[in-house]
Amino acid sequence: MNIFVVNSGSSSIKYQLFRWPAEQPVCSGLVERIGSEQATIRHKVFDPQAPEGNPPTEQFHTLPLPDHEVGLREVVRLLTEQPGGVIQDPGEIAVVGHRVVHGGEVFAATALITEEVKAEIKRLFVLVPLHNPANYLGIEVAERLFIHAQQVAVFDTAFHQTMPEYAYRYALPTALYEEQRLRKYGFHGTSHQFVAAQAATYLSQPDARLITIHLGNGCSMAAVRGGRSLDTTMGFGPLGGLVMGTRSGDIDPSVLLHLQGQLGYSAEQVSTLLNKQSGMLGLAGSNDMRDIGQALAVGDARATLAYDLYCYRIRQYIGAYTATLNGLDAIVFTAGVGENDAMVRARVCQDMEFFGLQLDEVKNQERAPGLRDLSGPDSKVRILVIPTSEELEIARQCAQLLANE
Ligand code: ADP
Repeated sequence: MNIFVVNSGSSSIKYQLFRWPAEQPVCSGLVERIGSEQATIRHKVFDPQAPEGNPPTEQFHTLPLPDHEVGLREVVRLLTEQPGGVIQDPGEIAVVGHRVVHGGEVFAATALITEEVKAEIKRLFVLVPLHNPANYLGIEVAERLFIHAQQVAVFDTAFHQTMPEYAYRYALPTALYEEQRLRKYGFHGTSHQFVAAQAATYLSQPDARLITIHLGNGCSMAAVRGGRSLDTTMGFGPLGGLVMGTRSGDIDPSVLLHLQGQLGYSAEQVSTLLNKQSGMLGLAGSNDMRDIGQALAVGDARATLAYDLYCYRIRQYIGAYTATLNGLDAIVFTAGVGENDAMVRARVCQDMEFFGLQLDEVKNQERAPGLRDLSGPDSKVRILVIPTSEELEIARQCAQLLANE
């Protein structure tokens, strides 16, 4: 069976095709700058016979793509035509798994897409005006192009629907929750679920108390016990919690009141400031940890402060979530920064003996694919690096859903 995973953004489409039940990635790609004359498609085909780590065969095209429909049609052409084709006909795709950012309180699990489910996703547009409409568009286009496939929605918020009410509510008037659904939802659920499941298997401890630390462009942490999320750092939207590439993370709401009330910022300007100009970019002038790491190595003061602040916030949440979980069996680093940046891991684990964390610095510096255990001999808590794959988790959820149908 072929499972096709689609992550449709406002001007991009990320995709990956898997053969099931082998969980074998066949090809993946990224369409960018949809809506422009100079849109691009990067299409990669994996050779199942090649040894692990071998680069895939890659094609790169620049072309005009007025909208998502034309973009996805081009992807279908790449999937079906040589060179780079992996199927004969779109009818060979049995399932299309869609990443949907917001499932609100309605979707605590993956759902087969029906007209009712689509209407519900639409109703959630007000909560995430930047994301759900783009995801919805991807669904509609895929329904037209893969007419024989079952369409499935996998929600970024669903995994966190297990949080207890005292963790997800804000201390605001009750009516704002009951009438406007103002509460913590949390995001990156697919990634937290994926690495938490692998960590529990590795530890042979289904009930493991885990803190999963997703550090990509967006960053979040989750407290997970027995495969259930008990708390997470992002909230109503993806701005809360950790310092990110360009997002501020936690901030006293008084700052926003001051910006708007005294400094003349409009709501839109505040949004741009918090989403696009803050975080590591605001502190150190770059949102790429590789640049900041280089600046740090030559003693740049702004980079040093940015690194300290970034890691300090993670350490604080390790403390907080150890309390949430009443103990700790492992912490898991994942995503671009978590998987690659040894310095971040070292700073996070430094002076954390009280929490039972002791990092093996030699293992921390080694590079290897797959799960890595970086715990030192005296570490009471395991320190793991687990590469995330949101696409594979989406495909797994699709397969599971259909098996249970
Ligand atoms: P996304 O959240 O978009 O999925 P990723 O998980 O791919 O992002 O993470 C992207 C970030 O990972 C980049 O902005 C960069 O800061 C960081 N990154 C990638 N490779 C490295 C590396 N070798 N060292 C440090 N940071 C890295």
